[in-house]
Amino acid sequence: MGAVLLEFDVKMGPIFKFAVPSTLEVTQDETMVLFGTRSVVEEGFTGLTVKDRTWVTYLNPPYLYCILLNPMEHQGEFEEAMKSTLSKVEYDINIDQAKLMELYHDILSKTEVQLQDQLSSRPDVQKLLEALKENPDSFRPTWSLKTGYRYPAAEKITGKSTKETNGLLVTMMSANIIQGRICGNIVVCPSCTSHRVILHASCPQCGLPTLESGIALEHFVCNYTAFIEAFATPSGLVCPHCKSYLSPGTYRSPGKVFHCITCNSYPKTPEYTLGCIDCKEAFSPEIAKFTPIYCYTALK
Ligand SMILES: [Zn+2]
Ligand SMILES: [Zn+2]
Ligand SMILES: [Zn+2]
Repeated sequence: MGAVLLEFDVKMGPIFKFAVPSTLEVTQDETMVLFGTRSVVEEGFTGLTVKDRTWVTYLNPPYLYCILLNPMEHQGEFEEAMKSTLSKVEYDINIDQAKLMELYHDILSKTEVQLQDQLSSRPDVQKLLEALKENPDSFRPTWSLKTGYRYPAAEKITGKSTKETNGLLVTMMSANIIQGRICGNIVVCPSCTSHRVILHASCPQCGLPTLESGIALEHFVCNYTAFIEAFATPSGLVCPHCKSYLSPGTYRSPGKVFHCITCNSYPKTPEYTLGCIDCKEAFSPEIAKFTPIYCYTALK
């Protein structure tokens, strides 16, 4: 997710030099904690979690190299790669942002090779690769009430749970041994990331969920609107408001509409909100989180 270079200045203490990408922000608190742990640990590698972010760091005085991990990455994968790349950096070299980027990419490519080696020795991974070779398009997601989405063909091969299988496929994609292409997405709750969300419709006029839906008729003569059932009589269509027969050209049907029994309005489209079954949070579709879902194929 990114790398940060901190430097220990004898007069000023820990200072932030720069980050790759430059949009990666590090708070003053994080800088202090990242350096603080190093007073007890010798030069070299340490991993630590500050708030909800996990870092791996390597001290090569006066520099502290910090890499921010994504949830799929593990501290252990970085130890060897960081040691081998960063121990070779000369003490007196002036590190600029381009150099930090070069070192970071060097470390990432080493962890990728390491991860590929680890994965390809696993029998379940070998079987998954085999299956993709025979049928290059076999891992497509299906929707699941329990887990949101799943890959039944892959689960059959791994014999593992949906969650473990989904995780393994993502790991294989990030290690570049299979190809993933976004082929769908899933809405998840912005506060607890559960996929168990329900769509609610409410009245745009009064905000209440007191809606029914049906086919509406509008009588121009008296300006009355109601569902078509209210107009139907054995002798034809009669306006329940002005009691006159509906003659051609005096009415129209706006089609399917909603009716709010609280404020008696007939909105064409209601206001939609999403509700999380698990944490009970209600949120608008605009702030819902969309997680990409991948279809997996063999490497080209
Ligand atoms: Zn209403
Ligand atoms: Zn009427
Ligand atoms: Zn939730």
